[in-house]
Amino acid sequence: MIKYFMPTKIFWGKNCLQESGEFLKKIGTKPLIVTGRSSAQLSGALPELMQILYTLDFTFHHYAEIEENPELEIIHKGAEIFKAQNCDFVIGIGGGSPIDAAKAISVIAANNLKEREIYEAEKIKNAFPIIAIPTTSGTGTEVTPYSVVSDREQKKKAGFGNPLMFPALTFCDPKYTFSLPEKVTIDTALDALSHLLEGIYSKKRCDFLFPLIFNGIKTIIDNLQPTLSDPKNFYFREKLMSASLYGGFVIAQSSTTLQHSIGYPLTTHYGLSHGLANGIVMQQIMELYHPAIENELISLFRYLGMSRDTFYHWLNKWLPKTKLNLPEDFIEHASIEIMGSRNMAQNTLKISQDEIKAILHRL
Ligand code: NAP
Ligand code: FE
Repeated sequence: MIKYFMPTKIFWGKNCLQESGEFLKKIGTKPLIVTGRSSAQLSGALPELMQILYTLDFTFHHYAEIEENPELEIIHKGAEIFKAQNCDFVIGIGGGSPIDAAKAISVIAANNLKEREIYEAEKIKNAFPIIAIPTTSGTGTEVTPYSVVSDREQKKKAGFGNPLMFPALTFCDPKYTFSLPEKVTIDTALDALSHLLEGIYSKKRCDFLFPLIFNGIKTIIDNLQPTLSDPKNFYFREKLMSASLYGGFVIAQSSTTLQHSIGYPLTTHYGLSHGLANGIVMQQIMELYHPAIENELISLFRYLGMSRDTFYHWLNKWLPKTKLNLPEDFIEHASIEIMGSRNMAQNTLKISQDEIKAILHRL
């Protein structure tokens, strides 16, 4: 049986935020705007939102301390500010990091959660409404019920999910991605590609989403290089943003798999961006899953009009040429952490710790 749930109202296209006024009035009275240090401003989304809030006569508070792979401590600080400022909804502007932070702030504040209680599903009973304004094309968090949080003390990164964390509204305007640096454009595209592929790998896969999966993968392959050659081209940026949205639709139903679990320790210990951490294991993971999804991959590559080898050749263009040469003690420790991660439950075939170690050895 397949269950499909997608409660987010999506506004799509150039200047879509201009339509937000009447909807924001129905959501609340005072938002906490959650952003990173510079992207909300650079992308143009923050000034546009502030203008709308002034017109509506809304007061708001801006929390701009979110860094890449958002930290639990900084998120708790945001929740304290949310409560102290008497806010009643959150608006996350940015890549996955500020939007995930906004989601976590919403549930921490609504349930008075302490320390690591966000990981205890039974403690999440309420959430303040969440609005998402993406400025990257990758995570799909604008339409997922997940948030991924890093715990510096335990040197661990882990996601948690709850249907209450689907954004109520999301405003996807591709022009906000014009300012993305080349590396972030590439790495976030690899993240979206991972999500789409995981819609094939996952035990919870939704067969009727395959048209979106196949189209999303082709869209990335066709539009990544043109975007890098012409970064302010609305058409190309819109294509990449649509692939990210499709990836979000997919993992919102199917969850992520080993493909994502294996990337988390590479980010926390070696500082690899989230998308790159997915990208460098993508070929090995596809080969590992291949016996369980052979027919699906045949259909995919027929649709793409390329062989698996040609796809790997395309993929390798976006990856570093030097090897990581991971030390033995890291491989031992990380493989145990990966085996215990919640995404592992979705694998279509049984995967052993030795297979994970072998993948890490080859990086
Ligand atoms: P990000 O960590 O949000 O941002 C990466 C970098 O890009 C930051 O330096 C950011 O600057 C900058 N940036 C963002 N938008 C920009 C723009 N328009 N112009 C110029 N610079 C811009 O990157 P992300 O890949 O989107 O998010 C990664 C996070 O999302 C990870 O923690 C990952 O685990 C999580 N994730 C969540 C889900 C989910 O469903 N919840 C799914 C996949 C991944 P600032 O620091 O100034 O913002
Ligand atoms: Fe991801």
